[in-house]
Amino acid sequence: MKLAARVSRITPSPTLAMTATAKAMAAQGIDVVDFSSGEPDFDTPEPVKAAAEAAIRAGFTKYTPSSGIDELRQAIIDKLQTELGLRYEKPQILVSCGAKHSLYNLAEALLEAGDEIIIPTPYWVSYADQALLNDATPVLLPTREDQGYAINPDELQRLVTPRTKAIIVNSPCNPTGATYDRRTLEGIAEIAVKHKILIISDEIYEKVLYDGARHLSIATLSPEVAAQTVIINGVSKAYAMTGWRIGYAAGPKDLLTAMANIQSQSTSNPCSISQKAAVAALRVGNPFTVKMVEEFDRRRKVMVERLNGIPGISCRLPGGAFYAFPNIRGVLGRRGPGGVLDSPTALANHLLKDAHVAVVPGEPFGSAEHIRLSYATSMEAIIKGLDRIATAVGKLTP
Ligand SMILES: *Cc1c(COP(=O)(O)O)cnc(C)c1O
Repeated sequence: MKLAARVSRITPSPTLAMTATAKAMAAQGIDVVDFSSGEPDFDTPEPVKAAAEAAIRAGFTKYTPSSGIDELRQAIIDKLQTELGLRYEKPQILVSCGAKHSLYNLAEALLEAGDEIIIPTPYWVSYADQALLNDATPVLLPTREDQGYAINPDELQRLVTPRTKAIIVNSPCNPTGATYDRRTLEGIAEIAVKHKILIISDEIYEKVLYDGARHLSIATLSPEVAAQTVIINGVSKAYAMTGWRIGYAAGPKDLLTAMANIQSQSTSNPCSISQKAAVAALRVGNPFTVKMVEEFDRRRKVMVERLNGIPGISCRLPGGAFYAFPNIRGVLGRRGPGGVLDSPTALANHLLKDAHVAVVPGEPFGSAEHIRLSYATSMEAIIKGLDRIATAVGKLTP
């Protein structure tokens, strides 16, 4: 069968693939420590589950309006108003089957052949593949670890062409854990406004911040910037609701209308029960998030300290999200039983085989010298997994 050309441009999500491999090994009875998964290990909060149960009992199990129920869109509007001070009308809000789906609707509504989208690296894997699926060209903007992954406005400016349609801002960032300060955001916003480039602000980790940091959304810089920004968010990460599949987009009305039309002809509404659950999460979920993040903070410190104790590995303390993104340059070039470990992928495969620890290699995120480890897993697993990594790396020969 001759498939569409777009299919050959993309690969399956490498993080989901690594998690699947780890789960398959565990199913065979192998004691795998899984640092690959990109989701909180916490259970969904009780009031959220109760709202879903009530929805089922009340027979709230039919189609809803394609863009989401009024009650949920209002909860999103209220949240954006109270937390960010931004005002949106209902037609500017679209609820989708996860933030990933929100981003996909956006890519379809915005991009066509020849269009360019600027993606700062290291980046969340789906941004580039979603652009490729919609015939556009991802233009990667390298950022540096020793500069805290900040964006240099001059370097950004140099990548702007007449075909530049959008720039991705993901703060806090998956995989680096970096957050952008006001100056960095202002630098991006200035260029975006000057060249009329849409800002896609993926704020899914806005509540997973440490050391008293507060979330700063680029859309809050000025009304002019807000008018040119689509905020992408959802309940997956903040309320431990990855399986419920609720995300949303808020932004310019014409763009959101186009996205809503695409959704109405593709998936229709996100799950009715999950929408009721998401209302509860947005209305009463924040105390849960605070407790979860306190626990992530403890694990973050232990994981990063352990990583820095392994010769050849160095790791910055992430300011947000729940990933450590250690630099493994000092380990590359060493030999394992299967030969020289010359890439993050080679190291990740070695750790899985030899130490039964699953991590995600840096290449799909756009890094040739990092691996990603999630600390959204138990402290016990973190200690056991890091012991195993230290032993496995220690056994490698120079
Ligand atoms: C997890 C994640 C998403 C998507 O989350 P959904 O479960 O689809 O809502 C989007 N962006 C980033 C950076 C993520 O890590």
